[in-house]
Amino acid sequence: MARNLWGWGEVEAADRLEDSRARAEAFFGPLEVEEAAAPRVPAPRVEVPPPLRDFSSAEPRVRAAHALGKSYVDRVRGLRGDFSSAPDLVAFPRDEADLAAVFEAAQAQRLSVIPFGGGSSVVGGVEPRLGPAHRGAVTVDLSRLSRVLEVDEVSRVARIQAGVFGPELERQLAPHGLTLRHFPQSFEYSTLGGWLATRAGGHFATVYTHIDELTESLRLVTPRGVVQTPRVPAHGAGPDANRLALGSEGTLGFITEAWMRVRPRPVFRGAASVHFADFSRAVDATRAIAQSGLFPANCRLLDEKEALLNGVAGDGSSVLVLGFESADASVAPLLDCAVALAEAHGGTCPRGKTLRDDASKARSGDAGDSWRASFLRGPYLQDAMIRLGVVADTFETACTWKAFPTLYAEVMQAVRDALERGCGGGLVTCRFTHVYPDGPAPYFTFLGRGKRGGEAEQWAELKRAASDALAKHGGTITHHHAVGRVHRPWYDRERPALFGEALTAVKRAWDPSGLLNPGVLIDAR
Ligand SMILES: Cc1cc2nc3c(=O)[nH]c(=O)nc-3n(C[C@H](O)[C@H](O)[C@H](O)COP(=O)(O)OP(=O)(O)OC[C@H]3O[C@@H](n4cnc5c(N)ncnc54)[C@H](O)[C@@H]3O)c2cc1C
Repeated sequence: MARNLWGWGEVEAADRLEDSRARAEAFFGPLEVEEAAAPRVPAPRVEVPPPLRDFSSAEPRVRAAHALGKSYVDRVRGLRGDFSSAPDLVAFPRDEADLAAVFEAAQAQRLSVIPFGGGSSVVGGVEPRLGPAHRGAVTVDLSRLSRVLEVDEVSRVARIQAGVFGPELERQLAPHGLTLRHFPQSFEYSTLGGWLATRAGGHFATVYTHIDELTESLRLVTPRGVVQTPRVPAHGAGPDANRLALGSEGTLGFITEAWMRVRPRPVFRGAASVHFADFSRAVDATRAIAQSGLFPANCRLLDEKEALLNGVAGDGSSVLVLGFESADASVAPLLDCAVALAEAHGGTCPRGKTLRDDASKARSGDAGDSWRASFLRGPYLQDAMIRLGVVADTFETACTWKAFPTLYAEVMQAVRDALERGCGGGLVTCRFTHVYPDGPAPYFTFLGRGKRGGEAEQWAELKRAASDALAKHGGTITHHHAVGRVHRPWYDRERPALFGEALTAVKRAWDPSGLLNPGVLIDAR
């Protein structure tokens, strides 16, 4: 099945329009559906360099498939057939020798080099751009590096190539009875290398929130040579080299493989959904659980509009979706403690708790299940909204518990005001994706009526209002979506100036000609 060129997923799965249309029209009134335009791809500026011919393509459809990420604006551009940012060629390296050939050819031909995993970046991280000295761009798609190479079952780590997509990674670990259990919403269409390069956030709401916590060591191929970090569970030997590669967003080199911490599949699970009439009490309950040492796998608080939008509660309640999992022991005592804490803050558990092990695969029918189904539908829903002319996007942050009440009130207000100005009204909702003892990671969704042809400006105004409000009230510009180019103005202010200088020095040391991903994360000079 072919990938949808402009939207999410495969072409056949993509058309879920009618599902969404009725819901959107109930809010916005009658909406018109826009059909996807034929893709327009410019002629390549350079020919495929001879040393790369064996493993590269300059086919227009292949180049178009590597022109954009999957942000709201990327998808609008793709829907309208605008693939003007397409790279001149796409290389599919088979090994590190091919990567060395790419660097050599790029240096000789003055090409920028764009690392590409699944292309699910929502921050402009994979869109090919040229640095001042470049004549063209080569995108390097790592999907041929897709194998689990070794499993150390004693230490429970696996050596995994970076270009593997989520489902294939899990398929190869399954015969060992092991799993990585890193499930970002983009799991199906994103890769291990992309997760590492962006410090992705997975489904664990506590402890193993970012891919960082699952990484033992990794291998980074830079234009200057290879950085292989040591295979130890932890060390105190100076600053951690893993931490320079994690989050480097393709600006320092290619992550080609990593030793990742894996685990047995969970057997025991427990879940409950706790309803609250008052959002601020729900926040207090969530904080109490985050600070309790119980460390639930799932701890997602949905505000009342988010609960409504996702079909989890329709009575104005905020809902805390709790889940525990273990391969070894019943999680019932942990779930009991977490629910008791929530009830002590005024929560009620209308459908009770669900406990199951693999032997009793009883479905709970709980709100947690509605939430999960809605979570997986989300990316397709955004495609439908775009075709219906609705400006629909999400943004995320993290802040301290102390900062949260003001940040929440001010950010919601700033986005509501921007929706009023730019779209004549709309909807904004919030949930927590991850929680820490010292603060939550709030995730916001907004929807407003678009003006055909003017959506990019409408979106930019909403994004600016939201990001300014986050920065003003103690939130980071991103908890897990990464920086790319979209978040640069706020990231550059958030990052300590001397740290920025140090990062630039590393960039100069490892990529002295500034080949890699110009404009993403940091400038070459
Ligand atoms: C619908 C949707 C849901 C999402 N849900 C989540 C979520 O739950 N959690 C989350 O964290 N993010 C999420 N994202 C964002 C995105 O999926 C993540 O940033 C993901 O980690 C990107 O992986 P990828 O393989 O698609 O990388 P790409 O998008 O291909 O690349 C991302 C960045 O990493 C660089 N890169 C890619 N591979 C390598 C490599 N091997 N070596 C060096 N650099 C590399 C690229 O140059 C680029 O800058 C979501 C995005 C979408 C569209």
